[in-house]
Amino acid sequence: MMPITPVEERMAGESILVVEDEANIAKLLTMYLEKDGYRVLVARDGQQGLERFERDHPDMVILDLLLPKMDGLEVCRRIRRQSFVPLLMLTAKRDETDKIVGLELGADDYMTKPFSPREMVTRVRAILRRAKQSTVTAVSLDGTLEFDDLMIDVPRHEVRVGARVVALTAKEFELLRTLAGSPGKVFSRDALLNQVWGYDYYGDARTVDVHVGTLRKKVEAQPSSPRWIKTVWGIGYKFEDAITEASA
Ligand code: CA
Repeated sequence: MMPITPVEERMAGESILVVEDEANIAKLLTMYLEKDGYRVLVARDGQQGLERFERDHPDMVILDLLLPKMDGLEVCRRIRRQSFVPLLMLTAKRDETDKIVGLELGADDYMTKPFSPREMVTRVRAILRRAKQSTVTAVSLDGTLEFDDLMIDVPRHEVRVGARVVALTAKEFELLRTLAGSPGKVFSRDALLNQVWGYDYYGDARTVDVHVGTLRKKVEAQPSSPRWIKTVWGIGYKFEDAITEASA
């Protein structure tokens, strides 16, 4: 079978960290991903997975949910504390709760075992393509997220709209950074509570609405008809990036 991936993409040789304790599945994933031009790193338990992630900075992570030493949800949570790396979760369970928790912790997608290797490769390509199209991936190397006239300097905790520096509270900043870090991605209120306020925070989901309201007043030209921070009815919020939308 001829690879469909364009040459320039294959040349990039993106690296994918596979965290999977079942040898057969790890082998199958490796075989199919390598055939598609990716470099594959394999970790056999959660702790090793996290270590390899921190050491090797892969372009994407495929993470099994049930792992020895540290489970997949905990690995996901720890990776998300430090990175927006694309993350695909694998689950053998039919239990919907785990998938939802995984997505709320920041996984980009999930697949239920048994899966078709070909579908897995298609998903991986799609997730990586989406990640590349987002402006963030390109500019966040120095810690700055830039969208048109909105500039988020993460290391300095500084936000500018045009030439104007906007004073945000710590939570407003964290909220904006989280949303803008994954343009186009829908975050539920619970996911935002977990990521911005911390997993142990037992707040009301309305806390999120209140902060989105004040944040919009500070960064949006028209807070009642926001350009960046969009409401997704019945679910939560997303940051809209013109490039993400155009290519969706
Ligand atoms: Ca497993």
